[in-house]
Amino acid sequence: MSGPDRSSDRAGERRDGRPAQLTVHGRIVTLAGERGLGEVEAIAIADGRVIAAGSTSEIEAICGPKTRRLELGPAEIALPGLTDSHLHLADAAIAAHELDLSGAATLAEGLGLVAARHERLAPDAWLTGHGWDAARWGGWPTSGDLADAAPGRRVALWAHDHHAIWISDRVLTEAGIGPMSADPAGGAIRRLGDGRPTGILHEVATARATSRIPVPTQEMYEAALPAICSDLVRLGVVAVHDPGVLGADPLVDGPLTAYAVMADAGRLPLRVHASVRAEGLAASIERGLRSGSVLGGDPAGRARFGWLKLFADGSLGSRTAAMLEPFAPLADNPDSNHDRGIWVTEPAVMADLAVRAAEAGIATQIHGIGDAAVRAALDTFEPAATRSLGLRARVEHAQLVDPGDLPRFGRLGIVASIQPVHLRSDAAQARTSWGERAERSGYAWRSLLDNGATLAFGTDAPVEPIDPWPGIALAIGRHWPAWPAGSGPFGPAESLTLADALRGACLGPAQAEGSPDRGRLIAGQRADLVVIPASSVERDGARLAGVRPRLVMIDGQIAFEA
Ligand SMILES: [Zn+2]
Repeated sequence: MSGPDRSSDRAGERRDGRPAQLTVHGRIVTLAGERGLGEVEAIAIADGRVIAAGSTSEIEAICGPKTRRLELGPAEIALPGLTDSHLHLADAAIAAHELDLSGAATLAEGLGLVAARHERLAPDAWLTGHGWDAARWGGWPTSGDLADAAPGRRVALWAHDHHAIWISDRVLTEAGIGPMSADPAGGAIRRLGDGRPTGILHEVATARATSRIPVPTQEMYEAALPAICSDLVRLGVVAVHDPGVLGADPLVDGPLTAYAVMADAGRLPLRVHASVRAEGLAASIERGLRSGSVLGGDPAGRARFGWLKLFADGSLGSRTAAMLEPFAPLADNPDSNHDRGIWVTEPAVMADLAVRAAEAGIATQIHGIGDAAVRAALDTFEPAATRSLGLRARVEHAQLVDPGDLPRFGRLGIVASIQPVHLRSDAAQARTSWGERAERSGYAWRSLLDNGATLAFGTDAPVEPIDPWPGIALAIGRHWPAWPAGSGPFGPAESLTLADALRGACLGPAQAEGSPDRGRLIAGQRADLVVIPASSVERDGARLAGVRPRLVMIDGQIAFEA
């Protein structure tokens, strides 16, 4: 559980005699205290920080002749700036320039997009992309499908959840994947009855293809990041935790160096904590990087080193999540060999890596979707050394949690890094794969919170879009308007209140990164705020899904204004 605030929550209090440089008046959600919205009438800002929060008269008492005044409209409300606690920022920046199949309703439509892209590319270029979904397309696509759409081309297309990749015959051949190729540990090659590969690789096996794709250079990241960063700021996101790239990343140089260069040049518009995968741990230790270390030369650094990111298991959609009890059987049963999912990293290996990282001052975050994976992640965090670092130990996704493991989140002080927006596309699949466990123990956000977990929201972009607002709406309503008629909320007992959800979006991530001065709008905190329509927080946040901020402020400066 989080402890008492270090900054005072008391209205009107300020640290010194300075007059306010700027005051903001209207409905302001401060998230003061341990629960609720903590609404006030006004806040005062000086030198990029909130110096007081309280009533209009209390704030006016500390105004000077030069104090500027920002008046919210009667139909507006201000919140602390949002932090996306799980956004593959560097990947999403690159992915924005790749083929996006998420809008293709059918395989035929997807192949049309592939063919159009194939026509435009240089003969030797790779055709890369993402966003297809075997569930949406009614089956797994094959390399044969690509032979007509992009003949002779090297094609590698991530599934929407980035746990499977669809490749062309040329890539299969060049990667040496044939009927006799064995499945690698932690991965699988999808096959026909006679053993021939179909063109789909799962989990660790995806590296056989992705390791052949030219890695984006630091310059490519630097060119691609500004656009996505400013899109995020427009949406009210003032900070991001980048859990590392989704593909192979042995050198860690690209994104981390790009963030450092951008921060030093004043070209990073939001705060970033960048994590590395296991392949990057040795290099990170060698360079003396610790969790929270500034990347680059600016001591106030907007770019910082985040966590060691480990993968315990795979995904729900690929039925590679590690399960305590088997998946519910499929009608056509091609996955019977993965009944309890797979370990992408064996629990003993995770435990070793987390301790090794902790000895070097690096905290760990572990991807765990299935209940066995979540348990293994919590086991990894039992040794106190893995939890006594500046940044908090965290379980990513925590989609299915055995009820017996829930209290461990509170007891060990673990952050549950959740992506409520996943429920939008996962609900049907979760019911199919997990049966009655799905709604009893799946996406158990209320239970996690009640058991003392710190909830930190994210989108998992580019797996989902970067917009944080649909996820906030789903956390409260556990329902999506586009679901088939008649489908009610998914496990409604696990709904969060509006205040809980805003805390998950604004405050929880700041607590995860060990920043005591972010996530609230009370004295001492950084003046990061977002102004949205007040109607969106009425009727329990029913309209939050479509929020577009009117104004976003970072460190007391207007970063976006519509
Ligand atoms: Zn992710």
